[in-house]
Amino acid sequence: MTPDEFRRAGHALVEWIAAYRERLARADLPVQATVQPGEVIARLPAAAPERGEPFEAILADVEALLMPGVTHWQHPRFFGYFPSGGSLASVLGDMLSTGLGVIGLNWQAGPALTELEQVTTDWMRDLLGLPPSFSGVIQDTASAATFVALVCARERASNYCAAHAGLQGGDPPLVVYTSAQAHSSVEKAALLAGFGRDHVRAVPLDGEFRLDVMALEAAIAADRAAGRRPCAVVATSGTTATTAMDPIAAIAAVARREQLWLHVDAAMGGSAMMLPEFRHHWDGIEAADSVVVNPHKWLTVAFDCSLYFVRDAEHLVRVMSTNPSYLQTPMDARVRNYRDWGVPLGRRFRALKLWLTLRDQGAEALRARLRRDLDNAQWLAAQVRAEPAWEVTAPVVLQTVCVRHAPRGMSAAQVDEHTRRWTQALNDSGTAYLTPALVGGRWVTRVSIGIELTERTHVAQLWDAMRRVASTALAAAAGGDRV
Ligand code: PLP
Repeated sequence: MTPDEFRRAGHALVEWIAAYRERLARADLPVQATVQPGEVIARLPAAAPERGEPFEAILADVEALLMPGVTHWQHPRFFGYFPSGGSLASVLGDMLSTGLGVIGLNWQAGPALTELEQVTTDWMRDLLGLPPSFSGVIQDTASAATFVALVCARERASNYCAAHAGLQGGDPPLVVYTSAQAHSSVEKAALLAGFGRDHVRAVPLDGEFRLDVMALEAAIAADRAAGRRPCAVVATSGTTATTAMDPIAAIAAVARREQLWLHVDAAMGGSAMMLPEFRHHWDGIEAADSVVVNPHKWLTVAFDCSLYFVRDAEHLVRVMSTNPSYLQTPMDARVRNYRDWGVPLGRRFRALKLWLTLRDQGAEALRARLRRDLDNAQWLAAQVRAEPAWEVTAPVVLQTVCVRHAPRGMSAAQVDEHTRRWTQALNDSGTAYLTPALVGGRWVTRVSIGIELTERTHVAQLWDAMRRVASTALAAAAGGDRV
């Protein structure tokens, strides 16, 4: 493709994306993809083309072959998983990053890439109320950041074992603690960092689905008594199922006393720290060793953009650094080489999409939108509480409301089955998209609010649809039982 062909195709694609977003704003697409497994594969040729094709033909295939297989995450009635950022400014940032085609192997290979990342992570640190002692780097995902955190924890606790025998030197095992509601990425990170499943503790919860600090202390004491070495605790600000906020100050006190690495997974809830009225959830955060916040979730920045903040950047670099001769430059002593702040060597110009989003909207508008979503969650919770047979099953801390339709006379097992059935029926209807989750051994339906386009009217439409679909599912099940 020549630059001139790119100009024409690019205009067509931007026009197509703009029209798609306008269509989403009209909310007239089914939210969930309409295909069955294998349908997209069946529509595509088995082999790559031998000859190039015109861009118009490719775009037509996007519409005809791929779009039925797209679940519309930016739809105003998408309430599944978590709100995924998709600001059009960040779409342009991604396009600019790819258009420039630079790779940040070291400062010299991408001075602007490096320094814009430094500036935007500092901006974000300040907007989130983290102390200036933290410095940041942009990772692809919170999963990667948590992995890096646990490797750093392992290395600190083991006197840099990776430089010697690794975890195979015969020392007693290191143990990681996290809550029973922590994201699966924490367990995955601990396994990949070599701790072993036997040494990952899922600490029980208090009555509000937060990590129970007394249970944490008991687990640490039991491990010490058994000769194991407590190493790290991962607290969550905004758990995946209910957005519970683990008590950072109390966990930090335990971590300090026991000399544990404290990593805070604020992938979801960190965004709320832009709001002064939510900062009390981060009391004690200055004692954390590392924190991850995902602007690609609730802050509208397009996936992928995950901020990893550390208190001791020197330790991070010592753990992550490899320094082959072909990457060394005369500037190294004076600059940040972000390849030493994470796993990948090659780094995209991710700061651009964060920069464009912050400059396009400004912090004030971002705060206003967070508050809009928080209000919508409280509004929905009030409707659910006022409706017979409906329950809000967890405190509504952020923008997620966990609900259950539990008509009288149904057993817990029947309610669980009903929950999964009506949620799937609602998704299949295309009206909205929700995800169920297990909380405390029971199924609940999560309503995760926060797509840029989602206004109160969309939440009200969802609530109407939930009641309608749940009643229909109940009647169908009762009919089925009679048959
Ligand atoms: N941590 C929490 C609390 C989450 O909710 C999620 C997202 O689903 C993750 C981590 C994983 O995020 P990522 O996809 O950036 O790895």
